Amino acid sequence: MDDGGEGFLELIEAWDGVGLVVRYDEQTGSWIFIALHDDTLGPMVGGCRMQVYARPEDGLRDAMRLGRGMTHKWAAINFPFGGAKAVLAIPKPLVGSQRRGLLHRFGALLNSLAGAYGTGEDLGTTPDDLRAVASISKHVIGIHGIEDAPSDPGPFTALGVFAGIRSALRHRHGSDDLTDRSVLVQGVGHVGGPLARMISKAGGSVLLCDVDADLAFAISVEIGGNVVTQENVYRTRCDVYAPCAVGATLSPATIPNLRCDIIAGSANNQLESVADAHALAERGILYAPDYVVNAGGAMAFTLIYQGERHVAELERRVRGIGDALDEIFAEAEAAGESPLEAAQRRVQRALQSAENRD
Ligand code: NAD
Repeated sequence: MDDGGEGFLELIEAWDGVGLVVRYDEQTGSWIFIALHDDTLGPMVGGCRMQVYARPEDGLRDAMRLGRGMTHKWAAINFPFGGAKAVLAIPKPLVGSQRRGLLHRFGALLNSLAGAYGTGEDLGTTPDDLRAVASISKHVIGIHGIEDAPSDPGPFTALGVFAGIRSALRHRHGSDDLTDRSVLVQGVGHVGGPLARMISKAGGSVLLCDVDADLAFAISVEIGGNVVTQENVYRTRCDVYAPCAVGATLSPATIPNLRCDIIAGSANNQLESVADAHALAERGILYAPDYVVNAGGAMAFTLIYQGERHVAELERRVRGIGDALDEIFAEAEAAGESPLEAAQRRVQRALQSAENRD
């Protein structure tokens, strides 16, 4: 490749998943990629991303990376699903009938997989998009709202992060009482907003940071928290830093400055690289692996899709993320390794024992 990127053949040759569905959508010039990674634990479930990529190959690589990530997410929390992800690599932003047409054809492709893969919302797709897919296919997760339950996954994800924070506090301090504990929530959107409210309600003090300063200020007034500026976010003293905005906030540039004991937040891909997990462990900072702690929304919506109708049961299952983290933290400590390594081993164990059962 003259631009240094991998080509289709190289990507496919290196793919360790169970299958790959590729369709070129001539009408819109888009590529549909469905990376079916692993069905050892159950039917494959993962969201659908719609994005403009420099090259279609980049969309395929993203689908593969994200599909593999879903396998890890489900296995780490002992949830009976397999990992997969769809990417609609569009040549330019699509609107109106062009967008709907692509989504309908994606729905038809889902039907051809006869339930082996269920899709949901992800970056670049909206509830309306998912409804368009669902008008063609029943294999869509996250649109079957139930009474009394939030219609977006954010509050469930926040509940999982909250359970994760409590688990980390238990591990570090022997008590998950939030009184007199401070939590810095970076990004107070669909997840960070509800999380900030939960922490405040539980007696914790909340520090808030958001590029949308008005939003941070409004929530701080509502819950009695304090706003932290963007410049100070990585050097503010707090018990827990909860990254709930963007990825890669944990890097050699930020880790030496952090003044927290625990990191647990919803953002995807918080570590710039795997080596950063070691750097955190060396600094004595307890890191809750992102793909474990942020699984609550995906869990709840998948349970709803399966027919669960009781909010209390959804919440109970999501709180189970805290139990999974209790085990991960204990195992990491016993083995003298980072929680990320312990989580990876847990994933391998879950897949291995399911394979042995078959
Ligand atoms: P959101 O867009 O609703 O909220 C993100 C907030 O972060 C916004 O208020 C935005 O202004 C703010 N923000 C953006 N960049 C920032 C920065 N550099 N510093 C401070 N604030 C910044 O998104 P969300 O749904 O709340 O998701 C937050 C993160 O959690 C994302 O990384 C997302 O991928 C991840 N996540 C979300 C869910 C979910 O259920 N929504 C599930 C798993 C993972």
